[in-house]
Amino acid sequence: MESSLEQRPAAAGRASPAAPQRPLAAEPAVAIKIRNVSQTYHQGRSALQALDQVSLDVAQGGFVCLLGASGCGKSTLLNLIAGLYQISSGTIDVGGRRVALMFQESALFPWLTVQKNVEMGMRFRGVGAQERRRKALELLALVHLEAFAERRPHELSGGMRQRVAIARALSQEADVLLMDEPFGALDAMTRDVLHDEIEAIWARTGLTVLFVTHNVREAVRLGDRVVLLSSRPGRVVAEFLIDIPRPRCPDSAQVAEIAAAVTDRLRQEVRRHGR
Ligand code: ADP
Ligand code: MG
Repeated sequence: MESSLEQRPAAAGRASPAAPQRPLAAEPAVAIKIRNVSQTYHQGRSALQALDQVSLDVAQGGFVCLLGASGCGKSTLLNLIAGLYQISSGTIDVGGRRVALMFQESALFPWLTVQKNVEMGMRFRGVGAQERRRKALELLALVHLEAFAERRPHELSGGMRQRVAIARALSQEADVLLMDEPFGALDAMTRDVLHDEIEAIWARTGLTVLFVTHNVREAVRLGDRVVLLSSRPGRVVAEFLIDIPRPRCPDSAQVAEIAAAVTDRLRQEVRRHGR
């Protein structure tokens, strides 16, 4: 098998993923440490298990794509990392890092201008008006929207709205960006552009990114690692290390080859579940 591709069993994400012979100092810090997380939703008398014993480390500054079929618990895991729900069992440790979450819908306030939307989080944190404005314009420049600062969300395309959402997430001075199928509703061309942009922002800022998708090519285009979840209840079933040089072309032979291997593994998983 291709040297850039390494498939590991489910337990690989657990404990220390480091090769023991490497000195500790060479290992980046772990930004997100997930241990044996199971999640069950209770509705009336029925219970639905969304996650089963998920363990995963995401290195500081890493770009990990979490891939799995619809309904396998990807959003659940991100919401748990963001602290939105209480975990049924297991632990998640982000080491006090600030975490921002981004969704498929930009969830902007429609009555506020683009700039005010970006300023909102800073306002809650008590950042002064002048500094808010300066920072918002800087972030809008980073996502190439400085000319649209005074527009309102409905005047923007879907791709532009997601760029505003990225700027707003960055305005929280997050160390960790959790992205839940953020480009899922965009057309392929817009998505390609946003892949380049999020990659450039990640490289420039040193953010840790955990990116959820059900699109195999998108995962291979973006991730250092692609972690595959089983069908519900979600478990980590495989992990692929992707070391294709960046920026990667989603249509390149290298991306296609690894995407094919990932898809095969995903199919096996779906078959195993008899779906
Ligand atoms: P994914 O993001 O991979 O599509 P989700 O995490 O949204 O999966 O959902 C996993 C399962 O948990 C689904 O069957 C979904 O219906 C269920 N679920 C998600 N959120 C809730 C909730 N708040 N209450 C009850 N069930 C939920
Ligand atoms: Mg989801």
